[in-house]
Amino acid sequence: MQLSKQNIRLGRIKTILISHLHGDHYFGLIGLISTMHLFHRKHKLTIFAPPELEKILNLQLKASETSLCYPLNFIPLSHHGLKEIHRDDQCTIQSFPLEHGIKCFGFLIKENPKLWRINKKMLPDNMLIQEIITLKKGENVLGEDGNIKYALEEFTLPPRNSRSYAYCSDTRYNEEIIPYVASVDLLYHEATFADEMEDRAALTHHSTATQAATIAKKASVKKLLLGHYSTRYKDPTPLLEEARKKFKETYLTYEGETIMLNE
Ligand SMILES: [Zn+2]
Repeated sequence: MQLSKQNIRLGRIKTILISHLHGDHYFGLIGLISTMHLFHRKHKLTIFAPPELEKILNLQLKASETSLCYPLNFIPLSHHGLKEIHRDDQCTIQSFPLEHGIKCFGFLIKENPKLWRINKKMLPDNMLIQEIITLKKGENVLGEDGNIKYALEEFTLPPRNSRSYAYCSDTRYNEEIIPYVASVDLLYHEATFADEMEDRAALTHHSTATQAATIAKKASVKKLLLGHYSTRYKDPTPLLEEARKKFKETYLTYEGETIMLNE
């Protein structure tokens, strides 16, 4: 329902990452899988999730006598440390453990290094396609005599920044996360409670906004997004204020909001 409200076409979704099996993080999944089936999806859907989810999905499909019209590719997550789980021509996805009482994973999505950009002002009319490709790869173009014909610095601009995003869904304050998310452009970290509830945060395997900001600061990330506020905070502004005392580049998130990352 949220995806359709945001006009996100279901057919464009190829991969789903499920951090852990508390209901608020996956109870909607069978509905989404079934809707894709009703829309006659043909292409594969890959789901990364804790292993127990596979049995749950299979039981739900069996009980409703549904034989999906598209391939469901389930990949169980059950590892320690940082692990690459996906790689394509645009990005890599790595996952890492969080501390949440039950098996729980964070995700790190990194764009692949980008090509050098041809400086159109400098482009000679007679440059060959193959020579342009060589420059875009970040190499000088050599002439037949082995000397530099087109120097990289002269005809190109450096590649744009490869953006990175780390998603830490539900977790207790845990400094083991820091190396995994170090220097990312954008970190999402849950912030369920305010400072006064720090004991409750530890007890329920959640974090305070200040703890999220501490992770952001220690990991030298560029920007921090908070979310997963306890329902006791009708207005999460106090959480933002507390976090900003520790890490200035902190922002609140709201359902349906789009956040753009500059290249
Ligand atoms: Zn949870």
